[in-house]
Amino acid sequence: MNCLFCRIASGEIPSTKVYEDDKVLAFRDIDPQAPVHVLIIPKEHYDSVADAPPELVGYMAGVASKIAADEGVAEKGFRLVMNTGEDGGQSVKHLHMHLLGGRSLQWPPG
Ligand code: AMP
Repeated sequence: MNCLFCRIASGEIPSTKVYEDDKVLAFRDIDPQAPVHVLIIPKEHYDSVADAPPELVGYMAGVASKIAADEGVAEKGFRLVMNTGEDGGQSVKHLHMHLLGGRSLQWPPG
């Protein structure tokens, strides 16, 4: 298995887990861009949101919102991001959703 996030999902590579169920795993980003920076990934491999079932993407958003509440950022707000493809800045080709919060985030992105 060559995919980094598949190896994290299987437990072969350690991660700082914040949530897990039968469909998804959430863990802290190794290079956090905000006080709260969690990645939500499906356990099943999809390259990106472009080839994932919409129900799964919606499920990931629901999990992200729950984690935001658990992390104490739901009230002030947070951002969910799915970088997709080269122009989208996707560096790991396994579907993932970034949950960012705990500071005021700028817009537009760079
Ligand atoms: P993206 O650039 O949208 O593909 O996001 C990939 C994210 O994965 C980046 O924010 C990286 O910091 C993060 N990342 C890479 N390797 C690891 C790892 N071993 N554990 C946790 N996060 C990682």
